[in-house]
Amino acid sequence: MTLDTPTLLIALAAAEFASALILFAFLVSLKKANRATRLALAIYAPAMLLVACGTVLVAFRSEIPDFWSIAFGNTLILAGFALRPEAVAVFFGRPMRGWTTLIALGGWTVICIVPEFFASFALRLVFVQSVLLAAAIFSAWRVLTLNSEHLTSIRLFLIGSTLESSAYIMTIGSQFIYQHESLKSFANPIQPLLYMVLLMVAIVIVSASLVAMAIERIQIRFETQALTDSLTGLANRRAFIEAAEGWFSSTVAEPTYTLILIDIDHFKTINDRFGHSAGDRVLASFGTAMQSIFPRAIPPGRIGGEEFAALLPQTNKTDALKLLDELRCVISKCSICPNTDASGITVSAGLFTATTGHTFDQAFEHADQLLYQAKEDGRNRHTALDKTAETGSPETTLLQQSEPFSAPKEEQASTREGLIANT
Ligand code: GH3
Ligand code: MG
Ligand code: MG
Repeated sequence: MTLDTPTLLIALAAAEFASALILFAFLVSLKKANRATRLALAIYAPAMLLVACGTVLVAFRSEIPDFWSIAFGNTLILAGFALRPEAVAVFFGRPMRGWTTLIALGGWTVICIVPEFFASFALRLVFVQSVLLAAAIFSAWRVLTLNSEHLTSIRLFLIGSTLESSAYIMTIGSQFIYQHESLKSFANPIQPLLYMVLLMVAIVIVSASLVAMAIERIQIRFETQALTDSLTGLANRRAFIEAAEGWFSSTVAEPTYTLILIDIDHFKTINDRFGHSAGDRVLASFGTAMQSIFPRAIPPGRIGGEEFAALLPQTNKTDALKLLDELRCVISKCSICPNTDASGITVSAGLFTATTGHTFDQAFEHADQLLYQAKEDGRNRHTALDKTAETGSPETTLLQQSEPFSAPKEEQASTREGLIANT
């Protein structure tokens, strides 16, 4: 079987058209993709279309004037491929700079307008293949270095880019061989066929990988949303319990840990006095404070309306209390309502310190009872039970001398009325 170069080029163009169409179809149908993804696809799909049109023009080289096939055809191919690293940058939220396209097209323009350069097939071929190689390597490098989301589907992109780069290197190498009489015995007769097949496969893989990266990004976003509490940014109850249970079942050496359950005191009063949105602001501030104070190994969570939890591996009671104290300090200064200087939010907490050897459910049960006891004892305090200590009995400690946030009934009513009157 013999396949001439124009036939191979048309087959390559068909693969490029198909890739462009898949990317366009994906762009139109994928409503849930974020702006960066859509913009990247909106650059990449037309870029592939340019490449496909350019390849068709080059395939008709013997039928149409050189200007259209060589000069214009390669201009389209170079422009399309040079846009690829730009699309990758945009995909990862970076700005489009355009200098890669300018360099590629600038160099090609020089070759086209200098007759001696334009007359040299080897120079034209080596220039075009080198630009395509640079674009492939640059795109792969950008994908590797900008992938802060840890998308695993970038591997497909890298495989495609490697195949593609091999095709370009092979073609540049073969030109070098043809130029030197002594090396001609190394010339590979199936090189053009191999080049086209490699490119066809690579182009399909790279385009498919972009689609895979876009889908993976959406999937990650949905997974994150399903496991995150939108108001506080903390792990939600399900995510916290899953992470905690995971830690319990994976630890072998029975390390010491402290489980803290925290409940904001008289939160209903905050809502009643200042309105639900003020309450929401307090919860959001609480979430921010917890995220900055507690270690992220097991992300702290919001396990109920105004109830929070943190599991601190390798942490004894003393260290856990330091963190709780830090949190209490931050949150006590939090302004409840921007129009007032109301502050002084207090919390009650239950701390259970032990070494693993039981289930997370049992630890949670203990911490919950300790929290309940802190509430019963008057709020604004913690109750701690340290199973690793000799006594092993709960101790309740007042957290601070100020009274828990609570207002007399008449004051609550008048402030609420005042707020309503002001709105
Ligand atoms: P205690 O000191 O006994 O914990 O009293 P409390 O008022 O904090 O507890 P209670 O269980 O009586 O009330 C909790 C309140 O938290 C009731 C509910 O309206 C409020 N709440 C729950 N989720 C949210 C939320 O997302 N936003 C706001 N603003 N309030 C919430
Ligand atoms: Mg409460
Ligand atoms: Mg509660």
